[in-house]
Amino acid sequence: MSKAKETILEINLAHLTHNYKFLRSKLQSEVKLLAVVKAAGYGSDAVVIAKHLEKIGTDYFAVAYVSEGITLRKAGIKTPILVLHPQPINFSDLIEYQLEPSIYSLRILREFIAIAASKNLKGYPTHIKFNTGLNRLGFWEKDIELIIESVQATETVKITSIFSHLAASEDHSEREFTLAQINRFKKITSEIIRNLTYTPILHQCNTSGILNYPEAHFDMVRTGIGLYGYANDTEYDKDVLPVASLKSVISQIHQLEPGETLGYNRAFIADGYIKTATIPIGHADGIGRMYGNKNGFVVINGHKSFIVGNVCMDMIMVDITDIECKEGDEVLIFDHTATAANIAEKAGTISYELLTAISPRVKRIIIDKA
Ligand SMILES: *Cc1c(COP(=O)(O)O)cnc(C)c1O
Repeated sequence: MSKAKETILEINLAHLTHNYKFLRSKLQSEVKLLAVVKAAGYGSDAVVIAKHLEKIGTDYFAVAYVSEGITLRKAGIKTPILVLHPQPINFSDLIEYQLEPSIYSLRILREFIAIAASKNLKGYPTHIKFNTGLNRLGFWEKDIELIIESVQATETVKITSIFSHLAASEDHSEREFTLAQINRFKKITSEIIRNLTYTPILHQCNTSGILNYPEAHFDMVRTGIGLYGYANDTEYDKDVLPVASLKSVISQIHQLEPGETLGYNRAFIADGYIKTATIPIGHADGIGRMYGNKNGFVVINGHKSFIVGNVCMDMIMVDITDIECKEGDEVLIFDHTATAANIAEKAGTISYELLTAISPRVKRIIIDKA
């Protein structure tokens, strides 16, 4: 791989294939795999990721919003796309692009049926989302009767799937809570199925659910972070490979005298002779201010180098006092050796946030070694 000469995000499709195969290996052969490609494919490139996953056999995609689904359709993605969190204002677009809504309340169900009826649709694929304990989005168990009534009163929609989302599937100390969510889901779905003449797809697991609750794979699983190479678990981290690598370059080196200060608001004060490197990546690129003041680090020529002072909009400065390096050298922010999870944790956040924050300003480079 050639060395970075500017700030780039490399997207390694061989790693994506590896993670896909690993996650598939955890599933019974008849269980479908839905790939979550929301938020620009967890900050990488949704179209590139979806095209690759479509090629290697993904059964379903999910995005958060209708606009994300339209981007995929315009790029030629043919696989079914579930929109996890649509708003009624976008229902016409959703239908035009053959996207499938998550229906999460009676208000949304009625609005969707009204639009579907006005367009004379028959059996439009819809997905019913139940809240089983996350208390974020979804019908309540008490809504079952009204859902069935509404759906049976129309020909316009069909319940393609029923699903729910786990609140703490990565958290081993919350096992009891998760098992209660799974039981609630089983109860809800069996009650609905009893009232239908067909059987919808059932799904509840995200990545950590796949790994920790094989008894809850049902007919399909939804995986996001695992595909991108993070397993949320030291036991499984070695089995997946981070897809995205964020790299940059040293723009300039500065020598500070004892007592000199660095950066905005003079947040760093040199306690001796300090050498710093300025790097062209800042909070507008997704390296938030929480990584400043030695909470975050980069790797230069194999050595950890902490961010000193405040993170600027377009730059960070790092301490290279004890590191052999020169202007133009490559800087590694994260990859499969210094992972986004590791860096995020030191700054009090999670891989999901660091990955999805990488802004469109950062150039994406696709590495596709077949
Ligand atoms: C984002 C999301 C997922 C993916 O979760 P991961 O932990 O990234 O695997 C699955 N289901 C729903 C409803 C989501 O919002």
